[in-house]
Amino acid sequence: MRKDRSKALFEKAKQFIPGGVNSPVRAFRAVGGDPLFIKRADGAFIYDEDDNAYIELINSWGPMILGHNHPMIREAIVRALENGTSFGAPTAREVEIAELIISMVPSVEKVRMVNSGTEATMSAIRVARGFTGRDKFIKMEGHYHGHGDSFLISAGSGAITMGNPDSPGVTVGTAKDTLLAPYNSLEAIESLVAANPNEIAAIILEPVPGNMGLVLPKPGYLEGLRKICDREGIVLIFDEVMTGFRLAKGGAQELFGVTPDMTTLGKIIGGGMPVGAYGGKKEIMDFVSPSGPVYQAGTLSGNPIAMAAGLAMLRHLDSHPEVFSQLNAIGDSLVTGFRSVLDELGLNFTINQLGSMYTLFFTDQEVYDFETAKKSDTALFGRYFQAMLSRGIYLAPSQYESLFLSTALTEDLVGKIVTAHGESIIEVMGR
Ligand code: PMP
Repeated sequence: MRKDRSKALFEKAKQFIPGGVNSPVRAFRAVGGDPLFIKRADGAFIYDEDDNAYIELINSWGPMILGHNHPMIREAIVRALENGTSFGAPTAREVEIAELIISMVPSVEKVRMVNSGTEATMSAIRVARGFTGRDKFIKMEGHYHGHGDSFLISAGSGAITMGNPDSPGVTVGTAKDTLLAPYNSLEAIESLVAANPNEIAAIILEPVPGNMGLVLPKPGYLEGLRKICDREGIVLIFDEVMTGFRLAKGGAQELFGVTPDMTTLGKIIGGGMPVGAYGGKKEIMDFVSPSGPVYQAGTLSGNPIAMAAGLAMLRHLDSHPEVFSQLNAIGDSLVTGFRSVLDELGLNFTINQLGSMYTLFFTDQEVYDFETAKKSDTALFGRYFQAMLSRGIYLAPSQYESLFLSTALTEDLVGKIVTAHGESIIEVMGR
């Protein structure tokens, strides 16, 4: 497999862009080797600059739920383009997408569009603080909510991979208002609440975290958080940037039947364009400017091209609920295949899966929080990643990520991935 062009581009990129990439985890630091530079993607495949084809299990970190370059989304973008690329003024599509999101996501009664997941979570925390008049919030260890200062404290995703979860540049003053709890422990939340009476504005979490690898909530955990928040007047925020419109039409909150006060969304609602959103209860969202005092704005927010792509995507998901059962079936079939390979080889690695999200952890211990996720053998993961890549399978280049499946994965392609997995495991384990 030739990678000459990717290699040359990376060498040049490093002269002009920090680390050669515009987002850290893309640099393959955790797995070694040079990143692939991508030329195009279509359906279940992504193609690099050297014209190698790979089966996609990242899918732009989630949004390409229907596979790449879906004709319906492409057409919506092209049609919108004919009328101009940005107006900085309200449009009909923004009203339509807001109405649709509200009809799909249980907790959302009003919604504000922004340009990324980072903006969504930063804004949601500001609103929760403004609404409650309190400064502190609780975040779970290993969860990632974008790169807002107050979230870069024991953060997951690229922040773990880079080995600096507490980034320089985040002030001590900012960090002191972020309280940390291990995921899946209600006792830890109770102690923080008791130690900071009437001071906690919000609890924010990925209801099903994907940024320390995929981890599932223990039975009763999300319900327990809901009860504590109700009792203490704390705003419960589900960050569904990854899980929204993927685990179910209404995200993890629909699947688990627990309704937060606020929800942050991203990725899928842009159909691949740069979009995020935050929404929630009317009385909380009415605190947002210009109806309320909490300031939040954006020149490109509600961008007409992004809204056209997002509307096409959400309308499709809304009118084709079978997409979700299809995604779940693909996830089940892939993971069943992986498990049977591991069983045959007498290996007991943990695979966490929910629908179309999964992580294979290179540990035989149960993974239910950040500490247990860190038991994984990341060097072994790195070798497995390279073995899969050399067989044409494009995985997220870090142990601490979830994979994202798309409806473009046919049974035949699932079979190919399972075969590559078997060969890769044998190669890296020397069996
Ligand atoms: N929240 C979660 C749960 C995420 O997974 C991410 C990004 N992976 C973000 C927030 C930040 O989104 P963005 O990269 O669009 O800023």
